[in-house]
Amino acid sequence: MHTAERLKKVPPYLFMTLRNKINEAKKRGVDVISLAIGDPVDPTPERVVAALAKAAADPENHRYPTDEEWGMMAFREAVARWYGRRYGVGLDPAREIVALIGSKEGCHHFALGVVNAGDTVLVTDPGYPGYKPSIWFVGAEPYPVPIRAENGFLPSLSDIPSEVARKAAAFYLNYPNNPTGAVATRGFLDELVAFAKSYDIAICYDNPYSEVVFGVERLSFLSAAGAKEVGVELNSLSKPFNMTGWRIGMACGNPDIVGAIAKVKSNTDSGIFNAIQYAGIEALDNCDDFTEKMVEIYRMRREKVLSTLRELGWRYEAPKGTFYLWAPVPKGYTSAEFCEYLFEKCAVVSAPGSAYGVNGEGYIRLSLTVEEKRLEEALQRMRERLPKFEFA
Ligand code: PLP
Repeated sequence: MHTAERLKKVPPYLFMTLRNKINEAKKRGVDVISLAIGDPVDPTPERVVAALAKAAADPENHRYPTDEEWGMMAFREAVARWYGRRYGVGLDPAREIVALIGSKEGCHHFALGVVNAGDTVLVTDPGYPGYKPSIWFVGAEPYPVPIRAENGFLPSLSDIPSEVARKAAAFYLNYPNNPTGAVATRGFLDELVAFAKSYDIAICYDNPYSEVVFGVERLSFLSAAGAKEVGVELNSLSKPFNMTGWRIGMACGNPDIVGAIAKVKSNTDSGIFNAIQYAGIEALDNCDDFTEKMVEIYRMRREKVLSTLRELGWRYEAPKGTFYLWAPVPKGYTSAEFCEYLFEKCAVVSAPGSAYGVNGEGYIRLSLTVEEKRLEEALQRMRERLPKFEFA
C-alpha cells in the first residue's frame, strides 16, 4: 500500500528507537537503566485519581464531551485560576483558553490552525523533536535557529537573517527548554514579543516545564507585555502533576489562535473525556504543594547526577530548568558514540544531543524521571566503571 509523501521526511521517533534498543537488551538479560526518556515514574496525586474515579462513575460523563467545544468551562476556569495564581497572568476562559489532549497535540494543531503550505517556520536547534513533523505535515518548512551555551541556550533573535524573519509565519520555542534545560528571562520574553510584532510572526510558546525550575522565577510567556497579541502558550498537566498518560493540557493566549486551534480540534477529535477534565480541575486547584514536592525531588536527583558527573571530570554550569541534564560529551566522542559507550559500559541509556538537531551534537541528555534506587544504581555504575574524562 502507498503511504503519504509527507511521512517520508519524518525520521523514526527517537524514543521509539530507544525503546526498541532497551527492550532488545532486556531480552538478552541486561539490567538496563534508562535515563533517556522524560516520563515521570512517580504516581499522579491520589486526590486526582480519586476525582477521576468519582467522575468516571457518573453516566453524565460517559457521553461525547462536546457540550462545550473548547473543553469544559469548569476546566478552563481552573486553568485561568492556575495561571493567575502561579504566573500572575489573567486569562478569559471564554476566549483565551482551549483544552488539549496534551501540549504535543497543541503543537500539531497550532500548525494546522496558523501555518500555510509553503510557509517558513522558525524552530530552535537543538529543539523538541515534535515540532518539525507538525510543520512538515502542513507543507511548510522548518528553519533552524541555533541555540548555544554562550547565549544561555536562548536564540539570538538579532542573528536571524531579516529575509528569513520576513518570510516566517511562526516560531516554536520552549523555555524551560527541552532538551537543554535552559530558562528564559523576562528580558528575552520582551525581545521575543517585539521580534514577533515587527515581523508578524505567530509565537507557539510551548511551556510544559513551566513549573520545573531551580532557584529562578517561574515564567509564562503570557506575562510579557503584548504577548497575547502575538501568540499562544501551550501548557500541560503531564509534568507538574505526573499525568503524562492522562493526556490533558491547554492552549492559552491570543483569541484568534486559540479559536483556530479549537476549530481544528472540533473537526479532528471530540474533546477530552469529561472525567479527565474533572480530575484536571482537582490537579490545577489543589496540587500546588504536590508540584513543589516533585520539583524538590528533581532538585535532589539533579544534585546527585551533577556530583557524579563532577567526580568524573565534568565542569559546566547546568541550566536551571526541566528534569533534564544536558551534559557536554568528553573529548574524542560524538554524542552518539558517547551514548553507545555509556550503554556498553554501564547499561545506562541516554539520549544523543544530535537527535535534537545539528547544534545538539556534542551533548547528551539525561532525564531525572527515574526511581531513586535506579538512579543511585546508574550513578554507582558510572563511578565504578568509567574513567575520569577530559573535555575540549
Ligand atoms: N513539548 C515539549 C517541549 C516536551 O518536552 C513534551 C514532552 O516531553 C511535550 C511538548 C509533550 O507534552 P504533553 O504530554 O503535554 O503532550
